[in-house]
Amino acid sequence: MLKIKSFTFNPFQENTYVVYDANGSAAIIDPGCYKQYEKQELVDFIEQEGLQPVLLLNTHCHIDHVLGNAWVKRTYGIPFLIHDQEVAVLNSAEVIAGPYGFPGFESVEPDGYLSEGHDIEIGNEILQVLFVPGHAPGHVVFYHESTQTCIAGDTLFRGSIGRTDLPGGNHDLLLSRIKSELFSLPDKTTVYPGHGPETTIAFEKEHNPFVGKNASY
Ligand SMILES: [Zn+2]
Repeated sequence: MLKIKSFTFNPFQENTYVVYDANGSAAIIDPGCYKQYEKQELVDFIEQEGLQPVLLLNTHCHIDHVLGNAWVKRTYGIPFLIHDQEVAVLNSAEVIAGPYGFPGFESVEPDGYLSEGHDIEIGNEILQVLFVPGHAPGHVVFYHESTQTCIAGDTLFRGSIGRTDLPGGNHDLLLSRIKSELFSLPDKTTVYPGHGPETTIAFEKEHNPFVGKNASY
């Protein structure tokens, strides 16, 4: 059984996730914590639940998703993995951090790379890596088959999709990959997005104005 805890951090209201197995092995996904009290909230949860972080993962490397990377890596000493097509995005996060209101942002290099079809072990649980570029060039989604849940980053939101006007964005590619990679998951799949509330694949197929059955964009 995989458990999922969400936090909402930084002025972009970014969702950070901790996913963990029955024995407490945990992955920290997209740590957007910037302020000390945000970092403390994450640490407190991990301590209270007796979790043992084993991996740091990013769905993609926009600034609001990577703010806590260096701190997580330093605090827990765990490997940090991204898709290799996000390296340029990660590097640019350092450049734009100041102008975006995050002076003193500290970046950290990945320890390895994720690719489509990659299975990630979190203790006894497996996360499958799906490649869903378009919002960002190396954007991945993490899917857990037995609980039918996915950590979708900024691909699919409740009633919306990720913006595609940032460097490396591609609107048509995002639409086609959502349809091929996410809409092929079971309808009951719960989607945990990078911003806003969770949703399901069935709800988005029915109602999403960009990729749903009555899409008008
Ligand atoms: Zn993003």
